[in-house]
Amino acid sequence: MKNKLILYLVLILVIPINLVFADKLPIESNVPGGIVIISIQTDDKPEAFFYKRKVMIIGSSNNWKAIIGIPLKIEIGEHKLKVINNGAESNYFFEILDKKYEAQYLTIKNKRKVNPNKEDMERITKEIKLIKNVKNSWREINSIPLKFQKPTVGPYSSAFGLRRFFNNQPRNPHGGIDIAAAEGTPVTAPAAGIVINTGNYFFNGKTVFLDHGQGLITMYCHLNEINVAEGAHVNTNDLIGTVGSTGRSTGAHLHWSVYLNNTTVEPLLFLNAK
Ligand SMILES: [Zn+2]
Repeated sequence: MKNKLILYLVLILVIPINLVFADKLPIESNVPGGIVIISIQTDDKPEAFFYKRKVMIIGSSNNWKAIIGIPLKIEIGEHKLKVINNGAESNYFFEILDKKYEAQYLTIKNKRKVNPNKEDMERITKEIKLIKNVKNSWREINSIPLKFQKPTVGPYSSAFGLRRFFNNQPRNPHGGIDIAAAEGTPVTAPAAGIVINTGNYFFNGKTVFLDHGQGLITMYCHLNEINVAEGAHVNTNDLIGTVGSTGRSTGAHLHWSVYLNNTTVEPLLFLNAK
């Protein structure tokens, strides 16, 4: 009887915490472009780093979770998360498995968008630097939305991670997911956040970046119109822009990217979050 009582007490204490997490975590996928979740049992909130990049930590005392974005170009095999707790350093090891992403061949009629001229290159270099800083933003908040709503209505037209060839020339893999929709279709925030940057970029066209906290950044590209200003606070389903075809684009669609620790990851892992 006494043992049963203890068991019930343990269940009462343990289950609610796991349920809270079960509702909030993205889907784990230990492959390039995926997300790895590591449990950390320390009293105080630790700090965690993956290849020197600060990693999101959520949870509460003795029940922390590190949410790690895994780069598309990572080596297959064992990797480690460096955890610092009250000055003491420890390593958490985990395995990354192989995933074969398909190749995609695209024809871009505007050749300047594939082989930019000298003037374009100067602009692109500036934009790459600016965008890199935006993706590196860190806002230290504890409650982070890890369950997203789809940002526009329409079918997925290009998967995340495709190995891309523009006019038969190899380029970076597809760092987001494409949703096909008519020009002017509303694009909405998938979760609460702050508009940290808007701009009209050479490749990405009219773009909005949202900061959801602790390095979770989302990006919306090729917009026809931008309907938010930098610094604005948005809630789930708030209008941020409309679908368009600005920048290097083959037709009206939304390109949507999700970044964790400055690494692009599969957006669907947040849409179908556990
Ligand atoms: Zn895309």
